[in-house]
Amino acid sequence: MARAVAVAVIAPSPGKEIFAHRESGDTLHAYVALSRPQDWFAAIDFTGAAAAAARIAQEFDGWAPELTALITDADIEPVLRPHYALPAAHRWDRVAGVTLLGDAAHLAAPNGEGANLAMLDGAELGKALAANPDAIEAALTVVCGGPVSFASPSSSPELAEALPEAQSVPSTG
Ligand SMILES: Cc1cc2nc3c(=O)[nH]c(=O)nc-3n(C[C@H](O)[C@H](O)[C@H](O)COP(=O)(O)OP(=O)(O)OC[C@H]3O[C@@H](n4cnc5c(N)ncnc54)[C@H](O)[C@@H]3O)c2cc1C
Repeated sequence: MARAVAVAVIAPSPGKEIFAHRESGDTLHAYVALSRPQDWFAAIDFTGAAAAAARIAQEFDGWAPELTALITDADIEPVLRPHYALPAAHRWDRVAGVTLLGDAAHLAAPNGEGANLAMLDGAELGKALAANPDAIEAALTVVCGGPVSFASPSSSPELAEALPEAQSVPSTG
């Protein structure tokens, strides 16, 4: 299992993905993403760690054993985390004096960029406010790109579209 993850590995496929990366303390942290209806996950008893992991691993039948071992050979119980995504073309009218940053503003795809984008949003808003100290609405408009807000292109809408509807991520480590 450790051989499969030198630093980080992403093994994507339509509707499913295994993603793992190394952390300090000789720890491997793995995520398994599956696009399935919520009812599908509700039928799995996640309090039974081994059986739940085996059921999830079935969805990766035929994949390299080094990758499926990230699901079945974990030291801790899998954690079910539902994910929801906005449609790629989603837009909304701005309300004066208010803006959205981070996950609230971007299409949500669990691709490892979310925290970076949220911090970038905050930095850009800070710079815009500093440059427009007497015109806060102007600063907010600069950050939001105009009267209609939309998700940033850098938030990878193609990835959000690749993982539609309900998606859950059991994490193992
Ligand atoms: C399993 C998982 C793994 C991830 N891994 C990575 C990764 O490796 N790298 C990466 O860059 N990103 C990763 N992300 C994404 C990253 O965590 C988010 O993109 C980032 O936290 C977004 O920051 P945010 O401030 O916009 O939102 P959040 O961090 O969600 O902060 C919003 C805060 O608002 C609070 N809140 C909500 N409603 C209210 C309310 N009504 N009143 C008051 N407070 C409220 C919430 O409790 C929360 O604390 C991961 C996400 C998940 C779920």
